[in-house]
Amino acid sequence: MFDLVLGTHNAKKLVELRMLLPEDRFKLTSLAEIPTAIEVEETGDTFAANAVLKATEQAKHLGRWVLAEDSGLTVDALRGAPGVISARYAGEHGDDEANNDKLLRELCDVPDERRGAQFNCHLCLADPRGGVRLQASGQCRGRIARQRSGGAGFGYDPLFIIREYHRTFGELDLEVKRAISHRSRALRQFIPRLLKLVSEESQLLKP
Ligand code: IMP
Repeated sequence: MFDLVLGTHNAKKLVELRMLLPEDRFKLTSLAEIPTAIEVEETGDTFAANAVLKATEQAKHLGRWVLAEDSGLTVDALRGAPGVISARYAGEHGDDEANNDKLLRELCDVPDERRGAQFNCHLCLADPRGGVRLQASGQCRGRIARQRSGGAGFGYDPLFIIREYHRTFGELDLEVKRAISHRSRALRQFIPRLLKLVSEESQLLKP
């Protein structure tokens, strides 16, 4: 089993990451289970820069392999906002209700055909010395609704309409999100490369 720390405090993201990673190959530990974990400041101005920061700083601090991700929503009519500040768009970190209210306010005069948006996810794996070993990214296109629908998922899910389903992520089963989300798309690219790296590392560790 390969010891891997999932570098996020977001419980909902953890559920999605755990669903997608082969648990027979990895011993997954979340930051919530590590009292000595540090809070890494997200000072980058891209999803990639923040994912790299969260993975490398935490890995160096813990001396363990860390898989971190940074994700967020970019809205076409808002020229990419809320972007890297998606979690604290309305001010307070992680206040999903206030973030969704602000998004609806910002888009109140924008017609349906101009409400296109995209979820983005960037993954970064760092080794115990803080070296970047793998990266991948994934996107998921959709449209911002005029009101919330559904209670599944988290963050902007109740406002994010998947065109093919005419439903928001909030209304769709987690299995659908697992198939098409930005996080799952990034992980699908990432996992084969991760498994290859893990088997190479295991070879190196053999006497
Ligand atoms: P961070 O990656 O912790 O900086 O925060 C990402 C933020 O982007 C979350 O707090 C949500 O507001 C938003 N976000 C990221 N992924 C999703 C998703 O799958 N559904 C809904 N909102 C998301």
